[in-house]
Amino acid sequence: MWKRDVDYEKARQKMVDVQIAGRGIKDSRVLRAMRKVPRHLFVEESLRGQAYEDHPLPIGEKQTISQPYIVALMTEALRLKGSEKVLELGTGSGYQTAILAELCDRVYTIERIPALLYRAKETLDKLGYKNIEYRVGDGTLGWPEEAPFDGIIVTAAAPKVPQPLVDQLAMGARFVIPVGDRITQDLLLIERVPEGIRKTSLGGVRFVDLIGKWGWQE
Ligand code: SAM
Repeated sequence: MWKRDVDYEKARQKMVDVQIAGRGIKDSRVLRAMRKVPRHLFVEESLRGQAYEDHPLPIGEKQTISQPYIVALMTEALRLKGSEKVLELGTGSGYQTAILAELCDRVYTIERIPALLYRAKETLDKLGYKNIEYRVGDGTLGWPEEAPFDGIIVTAAAPKVPQPLVDQLAMGARFVIPVGDRITQDLLLIERVPEGIRKTSLGGVRFVDLIGKWGWQE
């Protein structure tokens, strides 16, 4: 029964109505992107029936695709209008990458586990996304050759804000990152403003570890 596109489509629209718009996400472009991107294609076949439920799912290599509401919350915080250059750390399944690719000019995505990056790229290529650059490596160092970025999003939990990422923010840029211990974190919004750096908390979250020079050690 979960094999028919029409079932996935219905489940996706319900997910946005109930879990995303229903919980206060208002940015019409974010809502449109989440109504469009086929989340079930970013998880393995046996989990597709759960792709539109209100929780993370395993994607292999002890990693997860984030809860849809958290994807929406972090994306909305970037306030994308369409012309931005965005850096993403933690490609994972590529689902968040697809949402970003719908909403900005170019996405630069970094994943430390090669097998995940290759699979995500395959899915995103099949869906026709052409505005994504991919890199395997330690995203905590950022992507200095392409800096500055108008938005940065980190989808893994850091013990502290990695300084190289702050240094790669354009004036007016917005940066979202979960910071805390290995169990719970505060989702921080960091903005580069003329006076310096402004930090706001968007609430409590729970992510897998950000591993790297400016993250946790393995
Ligand atoms: N946004 C992803 C999605 O939509 O599927 C989910 C990301 S998952 C919660 C976190 C990802 O961050 C994992 O795939 C993990 O391997 C990756 N990661 C952890 N540390 C990293 C680092 N230093 N650089 C790049 N990726 C990293």
